[in-house]
Amino acid sequence: MDKKRLLILSLSFITILCVAGCKKPEPQSEAAAQEFKWQVDQFADLRILRYQVPGFEGLSSAQKELIYYLSEAALCGRDIIFAQNYRHNLKIRKTLDAIVEGYKGDRSDPRWEQFMIYTKRVWFSNGIHHHYSTDKFTPKFTPDYFNSLVKGSEGVQFPLNQGQTLDDLVAFLQPIIFDPAVDAKKVSQDSTKDLVTHSSVNFYKGVTQAEVEDYYKSIADKNDPTPISYGLNSRVVKKNGKVIEEVAYLNGLYGPAIEKIIYWLEKAAGVAETLQQKKVIEKLIEYYKTGDLEKFDEYNILWVNDVKSKVDFINGFIEVYSDPMGLKGSWESVVNFKDLAATKRTEIISLNAQWFEDHSPIDSRFKRKQVKGVSAKVITAAMLGGDCYPSTPIGINLPNANWIRKNHGSKSVTIENIIYAYDQSSLGSGFGKEFSYSEEDLERAKKYGAYAGSLHTDLHEVLGHASGQLLPGVSTEALKNYHSPIEESRADLFALYYLMDDKMVELGLLPNLEGAKADYNRNIRNGLMTQLVRIQPGKTIEQAHMRGRALVAHWVYEKGKSENVISKEVKDGKTYFMINDYQKLRKLFGELLVEVQRITSEGDYKAARDLVENYGVKVDPELHKEVLDRYSKLNLAPYGGFINPIYTPVIENGKIVDVKIEYPLDYVKQMLRYSKDYSHL
Ligand code: ZN
Repeated sequence: MDKKRLLILSLSFITILCVAGCKKPEPQSEAAAQEFKWQVDQFADLRILRYQVPGFEGLSSAQKELIYYLSEAALCGRDIIFAQNYRHNLKIRKTLDAIVEGYKGDRSDPRWEQFMIYTKRVWFSNGIHHHYSTDKFTPKFTPDYFNSLVKGSEGVQFPLNQGQTLDDLVAFLQPIIFDPAVDAKKVSQDSTKDLVTHSSVNFYKGVTQAEVEDYYKSIADKNDPTPISYGLNSRVVKKNGKVIEEVAYLNGLYGPAIEKIIYWLEKAAGVAETLQQKKVIEKLIEYYKTGDLEKFDEYNILWVNDVKSKVDFINGFIEVYSDPMGLKGSWESVVNFKDLAATKRTEIISLNAQWFEDHSPIDSRFKRKQVKGVSAKVITAAMLGGDCYPSTPIGINLPNANWIRKNHGSKSVTIENIIYAYDQSSLGSGFGKEFSYSEEDLERAKKYGAYAGSLHTDLHEVLGHASGQLLPGVSTEALKNYHSPIEESRADLFALYYLMDDKMVELGLLPNLEGAKADYNRNIRNGLMTQLVRIQPGKTIEQAHMRGRALVAHWVYEKGKSENVISKEVKDGKTYFMINDYQKLRKLFGELLVEVQRITSEGDYKAARDLVENYGVKVDPELHKEVLDRYSKLNLAPYGGFINPIYTPVIENGKIVDVKIEYPLDYVKQMLRYSKDYSHL
C-alpha cells in the first residue's frame, strides 16, 4: 500500500514570510487577512491555528448543505480514531473531559495548568501517544493530584464499567497515564523486534507479528490482479486460540459511530451535486453497512471518476501509517471543494504528465508507458476529521490500492487554504533568519519560497507518486518497513529534479528558476538540519517522511562533497548549509531518483534498508543539540494543527436554505463540544 501524504511540518519551516506574487486564495482583502487571528493557542510542542474557507459564501445553498452533511459525517468518526490509536484512549479522554467540565477546586493552581496542557495534548494527538513521534507522553503533575481532580469533579459522568468505583478507575488509569514504560510506543519501527507486540496501536490484540503475517498469507490470493486491501478495516485478535478479524462496519467494530456516519452520508446523498457523486456516496454507505472491502474498491473507482463535482470528500479507513504492518487504515475525513483558479496550475502539470514520465532519468523498464488519469486539483478544506484533525496533511493522493491507481487513476490534491494558514501564521517567526546562511537565500525564500513550496507539493503528489512501475511479480510490500521512506523520497526526488527544469518556465509554472533555488535550499536545510527540531535529544529519525527527507539531503551532501556542491559553513558558532552549485545538485537528485526507482521497481529490500539506515535514520548529536538550542530561543512550537470552522444551517419551513460559517477562537471549547456532540463509542 502506498503512503502518500505530504506532511505539513516542513512547510511551516520553510514558509518564512509570504510572498509577493504567490498565489493565494482570495478570502478577503489583504488587510482583512492580516487582522484574522491565525494562531489561537500554544502548548508543549504544539500550536493551534485557524484556517479560513475562502469561497464558501459563493457556493450554492445546495452545495453548502452538502458540505454541512459531510462535515457532520466527518465529525462522527472522532471516537474511532481515539479507539484505533490505543485501546484505553477513550476511557482516558472521557475522564479528562469530565474533569475539565466538572472540577470544582482551584483552577489557578499551577498544577491545573499542567493538567490542561496534558489534556490538550491528548485531544491533539487523539490519544496519549505523540501524533508524530508516536512516543507516549506523560503528565507533569502527580498521580495524587490526578486523584484529587477526579474526586473534586461534580455533576459529570466518569467512564465507569459495571460495578467500578472512582477509586478503581483512578487505580486502573494510573500506570497507563503516568508510567512511561507502559505501552511506551504506538508504532514500533524497530524491525529487529516483533513489530506487532511492541506497538500499542489498537489494530492487534494478543497476536504476534508472525501470526499476523501467517494469517494474511493464508487469506490473500497472490495471483489476484485486483486484490482487496486485506485487513484495511479490521482488528486482528485471538479468540479461542484462533486468529480472527473483527471488521469495522454498521453491526461490527465501531458500529455505533459508523451508524451516525451513515445517517449523515444518507442526507448528503440526497443533495449530491451529480449522479456520479450520488453513486459514490451510496457505495460508501453500502461499504459501511457490510464492511465488505470489495465494495470499498468499487467506491474508490467511482470516486476517482467523479471529477465533475465541485464539492468532494474523503471518509473512511484510509492511511496505514499507524500500522507497523502497513495494513490497517486509520479513520479520517476531509471535506473540501475545488479552488478553480489554483487548480489551473495542477492541470498544466497533469496535462503534461506523459512528457515528465518520458523525460525522467529513470531506467526505461521502470517507466509507465502510459501515465493514466492523474487528476490534480487544488482544494479548499472545509472540515477536518478523524486522523486529519487537528493535525492535517497539506496534500492528499488517493486511493491507495495500486491496481486502482494503475487501471483507473487517482486523485491528487493540494490543500491551499491550509498551506496559506501556515504561511500567514509563520510570518515573522524568525525561523528563516536563524537558519539561512546568506541574506540572498533569505530574500529568495521570502520572494519565492511559499509558491515554490506549493509547486513542489503538486509535483510530488501529481507526478511523483504516480510515476514509475513495479516489475512483474514485485509488490510494494517487498520493502516492508522501508517502503514508506523510500516512496516518499522517490516522490520528493521527482519533484526536486523537475523543479530546476526549463520546462517549469516554459509551462509558465515558474517565472524563472530562482523559485527552484529557494526550494532546493529549503530541502537541503531541512533534511540536514532543521527538521531535527522535531526529534528529542538522543533519539533517531523514525517518521517516514522525515526519513525520506534526511535520506535525500544526506546522500546528495555526501556524494557532492568532492565537488563542493553543498558546503557546511560555521559562522559565530552556528552551522549553516550552503548550496554552491545548483545544477550539479540537480544532477545528484536525478542520480538518486534513478536508484530509488530501481529499488522500488525491483523490490530490492536490502538496498532500501541500507539507503534508509545509512542516510535517513542517524542523527549527529552535536548538530542536533545546536539546532535545538537555536530553535528554543525562537520560542516556536514545531507542530501545528487546526480548529475547525462551525457550520450552522439556516432552516426555513423545515428546509435548509443556507449555511452560515463562523471561525471560533477557543480550542478547549471546540474539543469539549466535540466530546459532547460526537461521543458515539
Ligand atoms: Zn508523499
